[in-house]
Amino acid sequence: MQIHILTLFPELMEAPFRHSMMKRAIEKGHLHLYIHNIRNWSTNKHNQVDDTQYGGGAGMVMMPEPIARCLDELQAETPFDEIIFVTPDGELLDQPTANRLSGTQNIAILCGHYKGVDQRIREKYITKEVSIGNYVLTGGELAAAVIADAVVRLIPGVLGDETSALEDSFQDGLLSPPVYTRPADFRGIPVPEVLQSGHTANIATWRHEQALIRTRERRPELYEKFMQGE
Ligand code: SAM
Repeated sequence: MQIHILTLFPELMEAPFRHSMMKRAIEKGHLHLYIHNIRNWSTNKHNQVDDTQYGGGAGMVMMPEPIARCLDELQAETPFDEIIFVTPDGELLDQPTANRLSGTQNIAILCGHYKGVDQRIREKYITKEVSIGNYVLTGGELAAAVIADAVVRLIPGVLGDETSALEDSFQDGLLSPPVYTRPADFRGIPVPEVLQSGHTANIATWRHEQALIRTRERRPELYEKFMQGE
């Protein structure tokens, strides 16, 4: 899968892809990551990429021309399945969206900064607008990294069996059950006996019950939806 990230702050995009599963995905050839500095597509002699708002008001707006030139050039090589703009007024990122995006071949993620990007870019180029939560970040770089991580770990072969994404929260509509490792007794708190029993069917039943309890307590709306589908 190719992910192209368009940003004014390329250095911010480095660390999330240098470690753990994202690093592995790149090394194994599952992820081809391209970080594009939008400033390189500025035609302005000062490499200007932002300007004041029409109508007045505090804060700069990212100019449309450098973004459009960058997207035109990239699209001429390989058309994108989705061009995503990360923005607080987008549709909230969830597991079904991550699942769907993991089946695409080539996506672009545009990171905003300052007051955001000129509306005409959103209308002409963007195919999907995604928010990672109901709060405002300084820029879209962290949001782009969140989306890329949620998507790439779902590509078959990225995670080993031991960390199968299918057992994670949300995949079956429930939150994950609690997990334990050694020691069997930690400061007087024992690991539930069933998990030490080696009885596969009982362990599966216990985990399912715990997932139901946790979901009902913490996310009643997910629980209701799950129970309606049962
Ligand atoms: N003026 C914008 C608003 O109120 O909607 C916020 C601009 S924010 C300071 C700068 C950029 O950070 C946005 O253009 C967007 O790309 C990114 N951003 C901020 N919060 C985000 C969120 N919750 N999800 C995704 N991207 C976000």
